[in-house]
Amino acid sequence: MFNLILFGPPGSGKGTQSVNITETYKLQHISTGDLLRDEVSRQTPLGVEAQKYMDQGLLVPDEVVIGMISSRIDETPSARGFIFDGFPRTKAQAEALDKLLEFKNTQIHLVLSLEVPENDLIQRLVGRGITSGRSDDNEEVITKRIKEYHAKTAPVADHYQSYGKLTQIKGDNSIEDTFKLLSKEIDKYLQPA
Ligand code: ADP
Repeated sequence: MFNLILFGPPGSGKGTQSVNITETYKLQHISTGDLLRDEVSRQTPLGVEAQKYMDQGLLVPDEVVIGMISSRIDETPSARGFIFDGFPRTKAQAEALDKLLEFKNTQIHLVLSLEVPENDLIQRLVGRGITSGRSDDNEEVITKRIKEYHAKTAPVADHYQSYGKLTQIKGDNSIEDTFKLLSKEIDKYLQPA
């Protein structure tokens, strides 16, 4: 099994690159943002709870997200590996993920961190809001999401850095060029399927 975390601030391109990586390396893509939006659109109890936080640009409570991830991992026991997109977003989530994987006799092998200047992030997210219809892609909520990122999510990079698992990737070039940089790192562990 090969397990990868695609890390980076909102708007850094995690979703786009996850799709490319999933297709090339045949990994299971787990996006907590997508899973949560699905719960919201079906108005499940979890979705109704999560929406309160998402609409304000705040992180959904750890226990909600960790439970959701745990059942998602169990759905595909024979996966070649997982790519985690938008998770873990707090140190508590990172520690819970490490434990979940250890229980399965596996681990996080690599964390690729997309580096994009803050001005570009805001521009990208505002642009996406116009076409995506995502209610959290407006300037006020975007600013809050970036603040949450610095306060709670950035420390996750230090967690994996301390295990020597973190690699930074320049993320402000074209989608294709960024994908090439990401692939070069993944190829050290896993060949395209
Ligand atoms: P982006 O990375 O562009 O901000 P996501 O789709 O990953 O977008 O997340 C959208 C929202 O969903 C976040 O602002 C947060 O409220 C919630 N969310 C997603 N993943 C997590 C997570 N791992 N922990 C807590 N909240 C999350």
